[in-house]
Amino acid sequence: MLHNFGSGPAKLHKSVYDQLAQSLIDYEQTGLSILEVYHRTTLFEAILEEATQLCKELYQLDASKEVLFMPNGATWHFNLIAQNFIHTKAAYIHSGNWSKKAYDIALEYGKADIVASSENNHFKSIPVIEQDLSAYDYLHITSNNTDVGTQFHSYPNGSIPLIADMSSDIFSKPIDSNAFACIYAGAQKNIGIAGASLVIIDKDFLSKTHKHIPNYYQYNQWVNNKSIMNTPPIFAIYAMLVNMRWMKAMGGLEHMHIQAKEKAKLLYHTLDNSHLFEVYARKEDRSLMNVCFSMKETSLHNSFMHFAKEAGIIQIEGYRTVGGFRVSLYNAIELASVQHLCDVIAAFDHIPR
Ligand code: PMP
Repeated sequence: MLHNFGSGPAKLHKSVYDQLAQSLIDYEQTGLSILEVYHRTTLFEAILEEATQLCKELYQLDASKEVLFMPNGATWHFNLIAQNFIHTKAAYIHSGNWSKKAYDIALEYGKADIVASSENNHFKSIPVIEQDLSAYDYLHITSNNTDVGTQFHSYPNGSIPLIADMSSDIFSKPIDSNAFACIYAGAQKNIGIAGASLVIIDKDFLSKTHKHIPNYYQYNQWVNNKSIMNTPPIFAIYAMLVNMRWMKAMGGLEHMHIQAKEKAKLLYHTLDNSHLFEVYARKEDRSLMNVCFSMKETSLHNSFMHFAKEAGIIQIEGYRTVGGFRVSLYNAIELASVQHLCDVIAAFDHIPR
């Protein structure tokens, strides 16, 4: 049996795959494959409608929020956010590679500053803001740093709009959605498959969109056109819907959070109690979604990778600029798989050398 701990595209639950497979052959007994469903039909309208409702229900969104299902991944939103919302200048928290990418792209559209950074401790912690942000248009954070394994466990609450790239911890816990002007995420980790993204955006904030940018790049236009600006990634959006149905059936985000805490606790405990392994992030800021660690003796890296692979554990290579190992614990990862990994870590730790 394989245990895929990949960081994304990531594993979804087997029952989600079963439904997706069936939809490819015959979508809800229409005689059509989901791949040939035309987007301007009641069939697709129903998919978008249910997906929107489920997102609102899972996150308990009120009427102040719009939900968008858009093509492309999070990187596109690095562009759109800056393009739509930088008027004077934007503030970015620098907590890892993805936050830096978002910041660098923002500079292509306007002025932006890094207002807090944990670069000087190699992103082992979540930076804290110590300056007044009132001159900025928005504050951008990466809620979970997929590359280094840190996560915001509470969010900055200032007076300016807060925007979060939640690509790697979306739908992993309940949040107060009213704390955010905009949340966006690529779908391929905790929502569905690659090719689509989810955006939750505040209606008041939307009114601040630049009007001089092309229609296709304006979030407003995506709202006005109910996420259909051109042929959408129908299968990817349907995958999000099926996965959200699964999350709801499992007990919603409270349940996902309990599971995430249990899985992460088990793995961090095993690593902290081993002789050979060390966790990358400092304790207070450790991610419940991506556990990054390395061997104290780097010469044992390949040997553990091989040992793990023999035990069916795959896709645990660390992010390319960080190295070591990374185990992703998204919603569909079973506790039993994490237990198996912990047993393998403990067994490797006890091999006489
Ligand atoms: N943000 C974060 C936090 C990510 O982990 C990733 C991808 N790993 C991205 C953005 C980029 O996402 P995409 O490939 O969907 O553009």
